[in-house]
Amino acid sequence: MIQLCERCYGQIDPATERFFRLAHIDHADASGHVVWNHAAVHVDPCGSVPSETPAGWQDRAA
Ligand SMILES: [Zn+2]
Repeated sequence: MIQLCERCYGQIDPATERFFRLAHIDHADASGHVVWNHAAVHVDPCGSVPSETPAGWQDRAA
């Protein structure tokens, strides 16, 4: 299944890009059954080139 970013509408490559999976409620029918609308969004700023972990990333958890 092709994942499209909800923010930039670009295609997400699960192998090289980090992304969140989101679930929005589409609608609910009369019996209360909820239909979900699944979406994805880039973790990194949209349009950025996938890269190695930024220097110092591990030191931020303080
Ligand atoms: Zn994006």
